[in-house]
Amino acid sequence: MEFSFCNLRELKIASPIFKSVFCIAAALVLFTLFVFGCESTMGSSSDQTVFPDSTTHYKVKAQIQPDSGQFNVTIDMRFVPDKPSDTLRFLLHDALKLEALTGSAVDGYATNPWHFGGEDTLHTKVVTVPLTRTATSSNPIAVSWKYDGQIQNEQIPGIGGAVITPHWIELPIETMWVTVHASIKRFTFEAQLDLPENYEVVSTGSLEKTSTGWYIQSNEPGPDVPLIISDQMQTQKYTSGAVPVTVYHSGAPDSLTSFVADRTGQILNHYAQHFQGGSETNSLRITLAPVERALPSSYARTGLIALRHEIEPDTTLFGLIAHEAAHLWWTDSVNPMSRHNFLNESFAEYESWLVLRQTYGDAIFQEQLEEARQNAKGAPSFSEWTPRLDGTLSYNKGPVLLHELHQRIGNADFQSFVRALQREDVGTIGEMIATLEEVTNFETAKWFWKKL
Ligand SMILES: [Zn+2]
Repeated sequence: MEFSFCNLRELKIASPIFKSVFCIAAALVLFTLFVFGCESTMGSSSDQTVFPDSTTHYKVKAQIQPDSGQFNVTIDMRFVPDKPSDTLRFLLHDALKLEALTGSAVDGYATNPWHFGGEDTLHTKVVTVPLTRTATSSNPIAVSWKYDGQIQNEQIPGIGGAVITPHWIELPIETMWVTVHASIKRFTFEAQLDLPENYEVVSTGSLEKTSTGWYIQSNEPGPDVPLIISDQMQTQKYTSGAVPVTVYHSGAPDSLTSFVADRTGQILNHYAQHFQGGSETNSLRITLAPVERALPSSYARTGLIALRHEIEPDTTLFGLIAHEAAHLWWTDSVNPMSRHNFLNESFAEYESWLVLRQTYGDAIFQEQLEEARQNAKGAPSFSEWTPRLDGTLSYNKGPVLLHELHQRIGNADFQSFVRALQREDVGTIGEMIATLEEVTNFETAKWFWKKL
C-alpha cells in the first residue's frame, strides 16, 4: 500500500530505514482505478443503489478540525468478506479512541499495536472483532464505529504522503483515519465531512459542497478515503488535453501548474494508446502539496494524483507524474500484508521510463536504467521479498528485469503481455508468468521466472 505511489528519486537515495518504511507506504497504496465521472452533481443524500452489494461499503460522517487535528468520526459499514470470516481485523490510527463498536453480530473487540515488517513507527492499532456468526459474501456484516481523538503531525507514520497542518491536511491510507480492514480490502464509500468555514476538500470520486458540509462518494472500490483539505486551496483548470485536468495548489506558480497539466495530458495520451482499454476517466485532479509530509512521496487514486511538495518543472517531475499516471492503469490485487509489489510498482516504474524515453530521448532512459541497475546490485530473489527489500526489488530490480524482457521479446509481444495482464486483472506473480507463457512461449516464461 501502497502505499504509495512513490517518488522514486527519493527512494533511491534513501537510507535503509527510510526504504523500509517507504516500502510499506508503497505497498499500502497499491490500488488505483480510473473512475468515470468526477465533479458530479449528485446530491448530498446518499443513494445506496449506486454502490454494488458485492463490495464492502462505508458510510462516513466526520467532523475535522485542521487547527487541532481533532477527528470525530462515525462509520456505518457493510462488510462483505472475500471468504467466510468469524473474526475481523481492522487498522486504525492509534490516537483515535474507540467510543463504540456495535453490530448485530459483533461480540466486543480487542486492540493491539500493529507491527508490520518489524517496524513500530506506524502509530496504528489493530482492532480485532470476534463475530457471533460467520460473515460471508452472501451474508455480510453490519458494523458501526464511533471514535475520536487528535492526530498530531508527529504521529503520522513515516511511510507515505500524509501530513496534518492547520492549512493543509493530506490523509491517504498511511494515516488510518478511517478503519481499514487488515488485508486492505477495497471498499466503496460516501462521506459527509464537517469542516470549518473556507476549507475545501479534494478526494477521489464525486465532490460536492452542500449546506451541511462536503459530500464525497466513490463507487469505485479503493483502499481508503483519501482527503486533501486546505483553506488556501487554489485551482487551475486545463481543458486542452486528452482529459480535463484540475490542478489544486496553494500558490504554486503558473509555470509549474501548466507544466504539470500539459505533461500529464501527454502522458495520459501515451498510456491510452499503450495500455489496454485506454483512459477511462473524463477528468483528473492533481494536487501539489505546499508542505513537507512525513515522507516526500506521491500517490495515485481513482481520478486523483497527489504530488509531493518541492517539485520543479523538470524531467524528474515528468518521471514522477509518469509513474503515478501509470498506476491509474495498474489495478492489480496484490495483498500488501503478505506480498511484494512487483506487479504494481515495477511496471509503473518501467512504464515511466518508456514515456521518458519517448519524450526526452534515449539518454535519460539509459540513465534511469543504469541507476536502477546499480541500486539492484546484489538484490535477492523476489521470493525473498520483505518490506525492507521492497525499494531494491520492486523499484529497481523489477523494472530492470522488465527492460530485459522487453528487449528479449520485442515491442509487439511486450505490449501484448502488458495488455493481457490488464485485461485479465492479473494480481499474482504465478498468474503473470502464466500470462507471459501464453503471450510468448514456455522458454521465455521459464527464463523470466528464474530471473525474478
Ligand atoms: Zn508507485
